[in-house]
Amino acid sequence: MSILDIRVLGDPVLRQVTTPLSAVNDELRRLVADMFETMHHAKGIGLAAPQVGRTERLAIVEVDEERFVLINPEVVQQEGRAKGEEGCLSIPDIYADVERPKTVTVRALDEDFQPYEIEATDLLARCIQHEIDHLDGKLFIDYLSVLKRTAALAKWKLESGKYPGYIRRVSLETSEDLHEHEHLEEEL
Ligand SMILES: [Zn+2]
Repeated sequence: MSILDIRVLGDPVLRQVTTPLSAVNDELRRLVADMFETMHHAKGIGLAAPQVGRTERLAIVEVDEERFVLINPEVVQQEGRAKGEEGCLSIPDIYADVERPKTVTVRALDEDFQPYEIEATDLLARCIQHEIDHLDGKLFIDYLSVLKRTAALAKWKLESGKYPGYIRRVSLETSEDLHEHEHLEEEL
């Protein structure tokens, strides 16, 4: 397994709409394993293919030790509204409250291309919706009011210099990043 570079805000791949998969092969299974490895090292709870520079309609999620591989995922039902803080491995150090459906039913294929359905609520629901957004080229900052988005982007402008070429090298991150530990579980 290897740790992949994470693409950060500004890389056009994050705004691309992904392509549904028609089959799974060994290369794709390796990609899924590498994405889990990368997500664990980056201390995230979700990761979508565009975040590692890919265009497949594929994301992974791991909340409370429950893992999901989401291939061609679709929200088929939603209920309620809930507000919660979000961050993103592709927009490090930026956090904001986002309102989303509280409960969602999602249909997807697993890494053996077998269909399944999950009903998710609270953090898991938030995480899955955030990842599906990535597959449509959408980012959590898109939900913010103009004022809050402007503030977030101004902060990001100061941060983005750390990521030349819009690349975040997870394996080289040092312990100085760990002071933000209270937020890290929420990065998606
Ligand atoms: Zn994200």
